[in-house]
Amino acid sequence: MIVGTVQRSDTFDAKKAIESAHQSIQIWAETPAPQRGTIIYRAFELLRSRQAEFAKTITEEEGKSLADALGEVHRSMNIMEYAAGEGRRMFGQTTPSELPHTLAYTTRRPLGVVSIITPWNFPLAIPAWKIAPALICGNTIVFKPATSTPISGINLVSLFEEAGLPPGVLNIVTGPGSSIGDTLVTHPMVRGISFTGSTDTGSRLYSMGAGTLKKVQCEMGGKNAIIVLSDADIEKALTSVVSGAFGSTGQRCTATSRLIVEETIYDNFISALIDKTKKLRIGYGLLPGIDIGPASSEEQLEQILRYIELGKAEGATLTYGGNRITGPGFDEGFYVEPTIFTGVTTNMSIAQEEIFGPVLTCFKVKDYAEAIAICNNVQFGLSSSIYTRDLSKAFSYVNQIETGMLHINAPTLGGEVHLPFGGTKASGVGTREQGTEAINFFSEITTVYVDYAG
Ligand code: ADP
Repeated sequence: MIVGTVQRSDTFDAKKAIESAHQSIQIWAETPAPQRGTIIYRAFELLRSRQAEFAKTITEEEGKSLADALGEVHRSMNIMEYAAGEGRRMFGQTTPSELPHTLAYTTRRPLGVVSIITPWNFPLAIPAWKIAPALICGNTIVFKPATSTPISGINLVSLFEEAGLPPGVLNIVTGPGSSIGDTLVTHPMVRGISFTGSTDTGSRLYSMGAGTLKKVQCEMGGKNAIIVLSDADIEKALTSVVSGAFGSTGQRCTATSRLIVEETIYDNFISALIDKTKKLRIGYGLLPGIDIGPASSEEQLEQILRYIELGKAEGATLTYGGNRITGPGFDEGFYVEPTIFTGVTTNMSIAQEEIFGPVLTCFKVKDYAEAIAICNNVQFGLSSSIYTRDLSKAFSYVNQIETGMLHINAPTLGGEVHLPFGGTKASGVGTREQGTEAINFFSEITTVYVDYAG
């Protein structure tokens, strides 16, 4: 099904967009922040009134179920509402000065032109959580949505236009990152880069941006684990593993891709997990009651199937799923069964690399200490969870785990928009996204000294 036709822009278009953003710096920077907030709030209200339409577009172009798409729209609304409010805060500091009759304080200024580069898995929410904070801080933007999911991005930009954003403040360029990406990252008029995507691309962009002294933030891959200790609320943990591993077809950066269970409860937990997984309804995301949609693209499906083969070849036990789904109702999409591997060891590729699909790798451990060691034994550090009733272990975990976000008795997923989002190690570099950290990233602090002695 063709859901739209979109321009394939080239470097000429990218340069034009950057120049357009550059020309609009002054008008937007001089617009008082509360007034910027009013425009963002209007865009939020427009999105609120068109939730169903936006969710449908997400499902059509990305593939996730309508319920997940609606969740994504809500997340986008939350960040827009939050960023609009920041227009009346954006606090600086006022401090005593060493000198008499002197006022010392800090204020915030926009960076100028920022490039925003986003992936396909959250085609609305990730653009929204970068664009709204960048705008409230007074930056002008060149935005490049993912090549395979540009329509939600285009629709989001239209909302801001309809809300009254001055022309040239928010510019969109559609097309492959490989051809226009370098321009967005290296152009001398660009002062900041906010990227979400693969660790390979992010590392490249980070070094290119650093080479020209730009401010860069990269949110990248994950290999998030849930630890289940023997004293856990098992039913709660099971629900969380199933939704974390298989919800949104595993195509979330915070998806659960590893499960680490204490040996005393391991066998029972895995068999209950299989029972629960069997109940998931797979199909076209716009049909009612669907839990899992297809992989987002043929390329993505191939990657998932390649990892499943690799897992088998490396000696893991394929315990559930593992196949592409075809036949009536499934021929027009890239469907794959939720898949569970047991007998996984840390040296396997399926234990180390981001699969970005509904594939869960399971580890049996003798105790809490081994669970922590396995959880940390990956290059990534985005999110993790522990299920336990032992307060002492739960808080040791907070101190020992190498992830930027962690959950106690809750899934690895998501986050609230007023709190920082991001990871450590190969999962993230630069200031965190969302919350006040986003304001820190998208603004420059200026320190002001005023001698009012006369
Ligand atoms: P994903 O597999 O999650 O899409 P990618 O890192 O491949 O991760 O892509 C994320 C975003 O980065 C997409 O918008 C993509 O077009 C863009 N991109 C890919 N390569 C480059 C590049 N060399 N320069 C800038 N952006 C790029």
